[in-house]
Amino acid sequence: MKGVRVTHIGGPTILIEVGGWRLLTDPTFDPPGRKYDFGWGTGSKKLTGPAIAIRDLAPIDAVLLTHDHHDDNLDPAGRALLPSARVVVTTVAGANRLAGNARGLEPWATTRLEAPNRLPIDVVATPCRHGPPLTRPLAGAVIGFALRWPAQEHGVLWVSGDTVLYRGVRKVATRLKVDTALLHLGGVQFPVTGPLRYTMTAREAVKLCEIVRPRTVIPIHYEGWSHFRQGRKAIERRFANAAEDIRRSIRWVPIGLGVELEG
Ligand SMILES: [Zn+2]
Repeated sequence: MKGVRVTHIGGPTILIEVGGWRLLTDPTFDPPGRKYDFGWGTGSKKLTGPAIAIRDLAPIDAVLLTHDHHDDNLDPAGRALLPSARVVVTTVAGANRLAGNARGLEPWATTRLEAPNRLPIDVVATPCRHGPPLTRPLAGAVIGFALRWPAQEHGVLWVSGDTVLYRGVRKVATRLKVDTALLHLGGVQFPVTGPLRYTMTAREAVKLCEIVRPRTVIPIHYEGWSHFRQGRKAIERRFANAAEDIRRSIRWVPIGLGVELEG
């Protein structure tokens, strides 16, 4: 994917620079050490702070917020920066809660980012289910984002969002051609809910790649918090045993360093 620079700031927080835009996913900028309550007896401790401070990232044109109601995707410092962005694209429920500059999208709805002298970018919301079947009322609405702009050669840039592998996210394979996928991994589990998972495991990620076939896969949302059950090693191990094109598709973006996507 040409003309895109990606900087992993930590957890789910990524700066995407493309066509003159500075887009930020799920802002998390709190210092480490605090415990957060996610509701229903679940929670997590933040283990690392952001690799880059907010003041060094400004200006942010748009925030792509997969969901607003869990602190590991929007912590208090991240929430405080939302008004400074031109627009916050998120779920319909989230946009109602945030109000102000928030724009809500149902799954498969699209909004366009436009400004003089910049590439227009279509942001397509993709479906997520943030837990096992029937947990949507507890886990709340979540979306992913497919970014489309003119002259993309090999498909969209896709941010999966916090989701398990299920029918909705599999539909991405039939509706979109994906060049680069930023996948929220971590295989999230909580002691109170036993074996239930709230985000993809590495095994599920490989299965998803078998149907979506992105040219490049960038793992995100796998470090920095105590509720992640699978870190880089577990992800590497699973991808090492995948089909050759999938094995080769994985790309680790170092935390805090901007990386140009190529090819
Ligand atoms: Zn969440």
